[in-house]
Amino acid sequence: MASRSEKDLCCPVCHDVFTDPVLLSCSHSFCRDCLKTWWRQHPTPGCPVCKRRSSREDPPSNLALKNLCESFQLQRSQRSSESLNEAAQEHRDELQETLKPLKEKLKVSEQVKVEFDQTAEHIKSYCYSFKEMFVAKLRLPMKLLKLLTTVLKLISQLFLNAKKIYWTD
Ligand SMILES: [Zn+2]
Ligand SMILES: [Zn+2]
Repeated sequence: MASRSEKDLCCPVCHDVFTDPVLLSCSHSFCRDCLKTWWRQHPTPGCPVCKRRSSREDPPSNLALKNLCESFQLQRSQRSSESLNEAAQEHRDELQETLKPLKEKLKVSEQVKVEFDQTAEHIKSYCYSFKEMFVAKLRLPMKLLKLLTTVLKLISQLFLNAKKIYWTD
């Protein structure tokens, strides 16, 4: 709905804010182009509102009205760009809020992944040192060696499975 000030700045012919308004002797104002068009379409060139005949073929510009209209248009475009900015900011905030838990989750996942990898590395190196130790010295009975190797393999397998389950989630 047009506010009162906007209504006052509207041309009676095109019902839009005046563009280059001219003032007739009857004190009515119209866009220069609107008046020219209206005059071309009507046999008696007078005021489109009160029909009074114009004293001049080329009516003077209504500078005061022109300035009012220009500042109004400027305000209107500023208002719309402000509300656009506000809307954009709101969307940005919303997006940030939505992303926050995802980011946290990602951080935790990364940490767990690193821990998994580190532990897997540890198990691997334990396996190697056991192997080396037993191959080199053979001080423990073969039964114990086999048992230890199996246990380590099992732990390693469990670990890999846990990682898989966690990752498919
Ligand atoms: Zn007009
Ligand atoms: Zn008039």
